Amino acid sequence: MIQKFKEAGYKIVEFEEIADIYIINTCTVTNISDKKSRQILRRAKHLNKDALVVAVGCYVQVAKENLEKIEEIDLALGTSEKNEIVSNIEKYIANNTEKSRVSDVMHQNNFLDFGAVTYTEKTRAVIKVQDGCDRFCSYCIIPYARGRVRSRKIESIIQEIEQIVQKGIKEVVITGIHIASYGKDFKDGTSLINLLEEINKIEGLKRIRLGSIEPTLITDEFIKRLTKLDKICNHFHLSLQSGCDETLKRMSRRYTTQEFEGCVNILRKAYTDVALTTDVIVGFPGETEKEFNTTYEFLNKIKFYQMHVFKYSPRMGTKAAVMGNQVPGEEKEKRSKMLLELSSKNEEEYKEKFIGKTVEVLFEEKENNKLVGHTSNYLKVGVDFKENLENEIKQVLIKDLDEEMLLGEIN
Ligand code: SF4
Repeated sequence: MIQKFKEAGYKIVEFEEIADIYIINTCTVTNISDKKSRQILRRAKHLNKDALVVAVGCYVQVAKENLEKIEEIDLALGTSEKNEIVSNIEKYIANNTEKSRVSDVMHQNNFLDFGAVTYTEKTRAVIKVQDGCDRFCSYCIIPYARGRVRSRKIESIIQEIEQIVQKGIKEVVITGIHIASYGKDFKDGTSLINLLEEINKIEGLKRIRLGSIEPTLITDEFIKRLTKLDKICNHFHLSLQSGCDETLKRMSRRYTTQEFEGCVNILRKAYTDVALTTDVIVGFPGETEKEFNTTYEFLNKIKFYQMHVFKYSPRMGTKAAVMGNQVPGEEKEKRSKMLLELSSKNEEEYKEKFIGKTVEVLFEEKENNKLVGHTSNYLKVGVDFKENLENEIKQVLIKDLDEEMLLGEIN
């Protein structure tokens, strides 16, 4: 959106500065995100009562009937309308009529392509390849906010990556709401692996990192083709959510712990030193102490490199929010702490294995007196800063580690 405004000649200022237009890209993933979205909208009006305050995105999409109550919003645009953000705002300014434009995402069939616009860090670009999700997990509002699976055309993705590679970017991260479903809506057999095979051919690109994937994607056939692609990073984020089959069923997740473990084994066999990361929700409605212990034991067995632990937070409008046996806050806190401790222990053990080994690092930036970057399996590595090697790939011998990163010397 920033890029679109820049192209149209607008000046972008920091949020806390006085502006003529404030755009708040809202989130709705939990009840708390809704509350925060409303607070920021009020804050914008408070900064300049004469400004045009525009709410866009997921909160607007889901709360469309209730937006009238928030008087600070001058204009509300849904998740599809943000693609045409500039013209939607200019139309509003010219006519000052429609206060809200929120189309029905549930019946949208095509991926709305922003054009060659991408979020780019210095050495890594995030490429969105699909939107929407058809899974309807019982705790999740996303399918209602983003609609059905819509995939971006392979040609458009390749064109964007080629452009950013020409600018010197060496690594791309493939993201979406549910990238495992990529291509499902094309109905011609295209799937994520076809896309990755095309991306892998791009000259000058060095690394392809996958965003969060679902275990159901990892089949022998998928891995057979994936391992032929030399640019794929040996780092996979496999969303688990719970290590107990009963809890997974209530979550409406579509795999069992046994199937999940099967995927982990396939990945560990296929990729040396693979880094596996995951998300886990603790305190899901009805999660007894016994169920939690089952999850704990499962996680202890799998030993992920890192775990993102979320305390379940009810989201109005989802099945789980009205389930009985909601878990008390202090119990969620206790379970979260236990998993975070396990995560730190596993992370340290995983990292220690690299002391004495040589790894390949894509350097990103100078941090204090260190030059830091990441390996293909997403380990942060620092070397003493001697010269600016930003955006260069070097072999580094790992000698030690501190709390934050592995420490080494360039070979
Ligand atoms: S797969 Fe992910 S985005 Fe889709 S409903 Fe489940 S949690 Fe939400």
